[in-house]
Amino acid sequence: MERYKTVILGSGPAGYTAAIYLSRADLHPVLFEGLQPGGQLTTTTLIENYPGFADGIDANQLMGQMRQQALNLGADIRTGIVTKVDLSSRPFRLTIEEGAEVEAESLIVATGATARYLGLPSETKYRGMGVSACATCDGFFYRKRDVAVVGGGDTACEEAAYLASLCRQVYMIVRKPFLRASQAMQQRVFETPNIEVLFEYNTAEVLGDEAGVTGLRLRKTDGSERTLDVAGLFLAIGHHPNTELFEGQLALDDEGYIRVEAGTSRTSVEGVFAAGDVMNPRYRQAIAAAGTGCMAALDCERFLRSK
Ligand code: NDP
Repeated sequence: MERYKTVILGSGPAGYTAAIYLSRADLHPVLFEGLQPGGQLTTTTLIENYPGFADGIDANQLMGQMRQQALNLGADIRTGIVTKVDLSSRPFRLTIEEGAEVEAESLIVATGATARYLGLPSETKYRGMGVSACATCDGFFYRKRDVAVVGGGDTACEEAAYLASLCRQVYMIVRKPFLRASQAMQQRVFETPNIEVLFEYNTAEVLGDEAGVTGLRLRKTDGSERTLDVAGLFLAIGHHPNTELFEGQLALDDEGYIRVEAGTSRTSVEGVFAAGDVMNPRYRQAIAAAGTGCMAALDCERFLRSK
């Protein structure tokens, strides 16, 4: 059975950054890219808030560069998906999808989180063409235009408030007759003149043309329908962390995110480190993920050198 000093799971900014650092430390990391090579960022287009690119950079290009940088430094990047992990003793045992098993002296989990979508075919069709799950990432492209946010939680309110500072009009589409968000966030929404909350509405269809989203067909709980002209649709109905593999093995919080020791990337199992959105639901930014990927690599290096 092949045995590695360190294995990284995930190929977003956290995973690649960890691979870059561990390669430079001569620890020969093996990185499994997982289901979505490049991670969540590959579902967006231009990135204007990743430092170092004065004119912005295409998201796929940014991820391609990170991958190439890791490869150039000697990382072993594999396309396989890890389907099972056994963290009960070291070396850890990982099962790859084809059934092969490998051993790892240390593990960095950077499997990310997945935004929840409504599941409408028209929503999938316009993903990246007006449909987004990240206002901070994509809001800028809708300056002075009308947009809608789906959801009634804190994220939806935050995203609506952020979008209201850029856009002409923001509609919040909320399926219940009330918001679930904290009082403070609700107050902020109700006090923002260019946010209108549409209670008891669901999105029935995303409308568009070859250039992208042009509107929404909404259905009220009483069955009536209306059309809303918007250029962008932002989903804020929650994320779920990709931690199914680790249930019962790593300490997770109530939402399923990996718990780490404050200020570190150390998980509840010695030799297992977590980085990126899988342990950081609050910030969900590429630069924050890359930063925690660096932390995980440094923590991992220290761990391996101490053995
Ligand atoms: P939440 O689970 O709190 O809210 C999700 C919202 O999406 C709810 O209004 C829910 O409606 C709605 N929703 C879910 N599925 C659908 C659907 N299929 N169609 C329409 N609407 C749907 O998620 P958040 O991401 O907002 O927050 C997650 C956690 O993070 C919370 O604990 C929140 O407080 C916290 N948070 C804190 C922030 C802060 O403190 N600044 C900022 C952001 C998040 P319904 O109510 O009907 O279920």
